[in-house]
Amino acid sequence: MHAPDRPGFLAVFGYSRRALALVWTTNPRLTVALGALTAFAGVLPAGIAWVGARIVDAVVTAVATTHDPRAALRYVLIEGVLVASMAVAQRLLTLAQSLLRAQLGQRVNVMILEKAITLELAHFEDADFYDKLTRARREASSRPLSLVLRTFGLVQNAVSIVSFAVLLAQFSPWAVVVLIAAGLPAFVAEAKFSGDAFRLFRWRSPETRMQLYLETVLAREDHAKEVQLYGLGQRFLERYRDIFRRLYREDRALAIRRDSWGLGLGLIATVTLYGAYAWIAIEAVQGVITLGEMTMYLMLFRQGQSAVSASLAAIGGMYEDNLYLSTLYEYLETEVLSPGGAMMHGPRPEDGVRFESVSFSYPGASEPALEDIDLHLPPGASVALVGENGSGKTTLIKLLTRLYRPTRGRILLDGLDLGEWDAVTLRERIGVIFQDFARYQMQVGENIGAGDERFFEDEPRWRAAAGRGQADEFIETLPSGYHTQLGKWFRKGLELSGGQWQKIALSRAFMRTRADILVLDEPTAAMDAQAEADVFEHFRRLAEGRITILISHRFSTVRMADQIVVLERGRIVEHGSHDTLVALGGRYAHLFALQARGYR
Ligand code: ADP
Repeated sequence: MHAPDRPGFLAVFGYSRRALALVWTTNPRLTVALGALTAFAGVLPAGIAWVGARIVDAVVTAVATTHDPRAALRYVLIEGVLVASMAVAQRLLTLAQSLLRAQLGQRVNVMILEKAITLELAHFEDADFYDKLTRARREASSRPLSLVLRTFGLVQNAVSIVSFAVLLAQFSPWAVVVLIAAGLPAFVAEAKFSGDAFRLFRWRSPETRMQLYLETVLAREDHAKEVQLYGLGQRFLERYRDIFRRLYREDRALAIRRDSWGLGLGLIATVTLYGAYAWIAIEAVQGVITLGEMTMYLMLFRQGQSAVSASLAAIGGMYEDNLYLSTLYEYLETEVLSPGGAMMHGPRPEDGVRFESVSFSYPGASEPALEDIDLHLPPGASVALVGENGSGKTTLIKLLTRLYRPTRGRILLDGLDLGEWDAVTLRERIGVIFQDFARYQMQVGENIGAGDERFFEDEPRWRAAAGRGQADEFIETLPSGYHTQLGKWFRKGLELSGGQWQKIALSRAFMRTRADILVLDEPTAAMDAQAEADVFEHFRRLAEGRITILISHRFSTVRMADQIVVLERGRIVEHGSHDTLVALGGRYAHLFALQARGYR
C-alpha cells in the first residue's frame, strides 16, 4: 500500500482545533449554543436511565406496601420532561447547525476566493496547486462544520459514556472495564481503516482530477462544439468509466476488509453485552440489586454500546474531514511572493523599458523560454515582436507585466527594477490585451469597463473607448446596446463573433487612458489582414507618446512598427526597422518574402 504520510491515531483530531476556531470566529453565539446543547444532550440519556430505574423501584415498593402510585407517577412525569427536553435539545441542535452551515460555507468560500486573488499566475499553472484549489472549493461549505459537528458528537458520546460509567460503577467497576474493553478493538480497527481511506484519497487525487476534467469537457458549452463534431463523447465517457472502475476496485477491497473486521469485532461486543446481561440478571435474582437497578444497568449497557459505535462512525468521518481541511489549509497557507516594492516613480522617466540580460524558465521546464534578452524601448517607441509559435513572445510580455519574475537578469521601468515598483502603480502603467483575453459573461459595457477597474461601470467612458476600439458601430445594433448581456450561461445572453470580441478587447485597452505602455498580443488574429492593419495604424496614432508593443504574424502590420524584434527559441536573433532587416537578408527578410509571395 502506498503510504507517503501515515497519519497517526491522533490525526483524527489534527484539524479539530482549527475547525473549531473557524466556527467560533464565524459566529461565537451559535458556537456556544451548539456546545451547550451538545453537553446537555450528552448527559440526558444517563439521567433518563436513572429516572427509569426509580420508576420501576417505586412501582415495586408500592406493590409490596402502600399501593399508592404517586411516587411512581412523579418519576414518570420527570422522565417525560427529560425526554421532551431531549427532543427540544435535538431540534435546537439541528437549527444551530443549519444556521452555522450556511454562514460557514459562505465564509470559507470567501476565504478561498480572497486567497485566489492574491496568487500569482504561476500558481494557477501548477497542476498540484490547481488540484488543491479545486478540492478546497468543491466541499467548502460542508467540511469544516462537519468536522466540528463530529468532534462535538464525539464529545457528546464521550460525556454519555462517562455518565453511564459513573452510574455503572455502582454496580461494579468491572462492568465499566468490560463496557470499554468490548468497544476498544472495534475502535482501533475503525481508526486504522479510516487512516487507510485517508491515504487512498490523497494518493488518488490526479485520477479524481482527470474525472473532474472529463466532466467539464463533456458537460460544458465551450467544449460541446468540438466534442460533438468529432464524436469524442463516447471515448471520453469510456475514460471516465475506466477511472471509476479502477478506483472502485480499491474502494471495494478496502470496504470489504473494513466491514469483515467490523462484523467480527461487532460480534465480540454483542457477546459481551449478553454476558453482562446474564451477570446483571443473576445479581438481581440473588437480590444484590433491585429490579429498577437491573433495568437501569441493562439500559446503560445497551446505550453505552451504541454510544461507542456512534463514536466509531464519527471517527471514520473525521478522518475524511481532516483530509479536506488539510487541503484547505495547505491552500490558504500557500506562500505568495511579496507583492513587490512601494516605489511609485522611477529615477529616469525618459528611459522607458529596459531588459538587461533577462533569462527565464517556467517552473519545472528543462529549456529556458527566454535567454539573454537585452532590449531598450524608450517612451514613444512602437515595437513589433515576431517569431514562430513558442519562440517566447508571450513570455516576454508576461515578464514585462510582472506576471512572472525573471530567473536571471532584470527589467527596468524608468530606471527602476520592476520588482521595486508598487504593484498598483505598475499595473496602471501597463495595458495588455492577450490573445486569450477574458470574455466575461457580463454586459458588453462592463466587458469594456474591465479595462480600468475604477471605471468599470462608467458608461460615458465605455462609449469613448468603444469608439476608439471601433466597436461602437456593432454595439449600437445589439438589442440592449451597451447593457446587452453576453455569454450562454445566462438567459438572453448573446454570443459575439471572434472579430467582435476582439473589438471589445481593443476597446478595453483604450479604457486604460493612464497606461503608457500598451501591448497587443495577437488580439486581432480573427480580423482580416486589412482590418488588422487599420486597427494597428489607428492604435498607434491614438497611442502617441506611449510605448506600444505588438505581436502579430502579419507582416503588413508588423512593418509599420519602428522597431522589429525577431525571436527564435527564446533569443533575440534580429532587431531593427523593417527596411534594415529586409536589407540584412536574414531571418526576417526570409519570412517576409514567404508571406509576400502568399499574397501575390
Ligand atoms: P509565443 O508567444 O512566442 O508563441 P510563448 O512565450 O507562449 O511563445 O512560449 C515560449 C515557450 O515557453 C514555449 O516553449 C512554451 O512551451 C513554453 N511555455 C509557455 N507558457 C508556459 C507555461 N505556462 N508553463 C510552462 N511552459 C510554458
